[in-house]
Amino acid sequence: MNVLVVNAGSSTLKYQVIDTKSHKVSAKGSCERVCFTGGTFTHAANGSKKVTENIEFPDHKVAIEVVLKDLEANGVKIEGIGHRIVQGGWYFGDSSLVDEDVLAKIREVAPLAPLHNNPEANVIEYCLEQYPDLPNVTVYDTAFHFNMPEVAKTYALPKDVCDKLHIRKYGAHGTSHRYVSGRCAELMGKPIEELKIVSCHMGNGSSIAAIDGGKCVDTSMGFTPLAGLPMGTRSGDLDAGILQYLMNKYQLNIDDMLNILNKKSGVLALSDGVSSDFRDLENAHKEGNERAGLAVDMFNYGVKKLIGAYAAAMGGVDAIIFTAGVGENSASQRLDIASGLEFMGVKMDAEANNVRGKEAVISAADSKVKVLLIPTNEELMIAMDTAAIVKG
Ligand code: ADP
Repeated sequence: MNVLVVNAGSSTLKYQVIDTKSHKVSAKGSCERVCFTGGTFTHAANGSKKVTENIEFPDHKVAIEVVLKDLEANGVKIEGIGHRIVQGGWYFGDSSLVDEDVLAKIREVAPLAPLHNNPEANVIEYCLEQYPDLPNVTVYDTAFHFNMPEVAKTYALPKDVCDKLHIRKYGAHGTSHRYVSGRCAELMGKPIEELKIVSCHMGNGSSIAAIDGGKCVDTSMGFTPLAGLPMGTRSGDLDAGILQYLMNKYQLNIDDMLNILNKKSGVLALSDGVSSDFRDLENAHKEGNERAGLAVDMFNYGVKKLIGAYAAAMGGVDAIIFTAGVGENSASQRLDIASGLEFMGVKMDAEANNVRGKEAVISAADSKVKVLLIPTNEELMIAMDTAAIVKG
């Protein structure tokens, strides 16, 4: 089946057309600066060279319209549309075939992720109105974490408030964790039901997931994607007492405070402003910048601690997966994270680890725990879900 996979972000709309049988991508591109002026449309179809045009996108509906017209003009046939949805909230533990009810629920949970769910819902609405014959499927970043046990997903806050306002750990990157853990089982030649896996999605945003028998049992992101590890510009977990102290000291309101925690913290802040990009940090450290070194060390230390914690939570671990920008590219960070885990049966192969962006086993042949590099492919996962649901 030929599926158009749509990923609408707060100011972008990215897409791919994927054949779910051959996994071939026949068209892909992105609309940038949606809802702003100075928009660009970059696209390629049927093996042609990538082209970038200046097109204004006053909203996401215009962006999806441009994409669908471009596919038509290039003769790219699509049989269904798969939408990435950032927040499935308290409704969705699985991907769903879109109808009015699903669309209404995506809007209802939008206060949990307003920058994402609203544009995503607008795109779906356009597709339903203009292409009523095409089935639409929604795949939620949070669905993989939906059924985490109570001990992992509950906050130590008043129960009535949490119940009423649906406050719980929702997690993120679920589609990525699901994809790489599935591939991990295939590569190891074992049923996923028999495996305990720690999946490390390390990019600009990062989350770690404990996956026992194919089910997520804990993850590092929380109610929002601000929790867990220190990230590019996000603080990760911190003592809420700091908020009160800072807000009183500098007369900040909660929006100012969250702007700092989301955009001015993380490794950018740890490195004293060097960069939010781990490549820059590694280079700056090589040139002697101690704070850049500390930022990378603190991130790696955080991942290592979570691997240990999740092994304890699952009562063991068979495989550790590294994925996303940092996980797929930084051999030195992978090595640093895994070093010191020999006590629990992790033994890296430095030579095998010297690899980027392709599937590989990077642990030694006699390592009790397999360590794998698996490039993530959320788009393929969304396309496969779409085909599975449409075909019933
Ligand atoms: P996002 O969370 O935005 O999807 P990605 O998964 O694309 O992010 O990861 C982007 C990050 O990957 C960059 O910020 C950069 O820090 C990191 N990265 C990419 N290449 C390398 C590399 N060779 N070494 C270290 N980090 C890298």
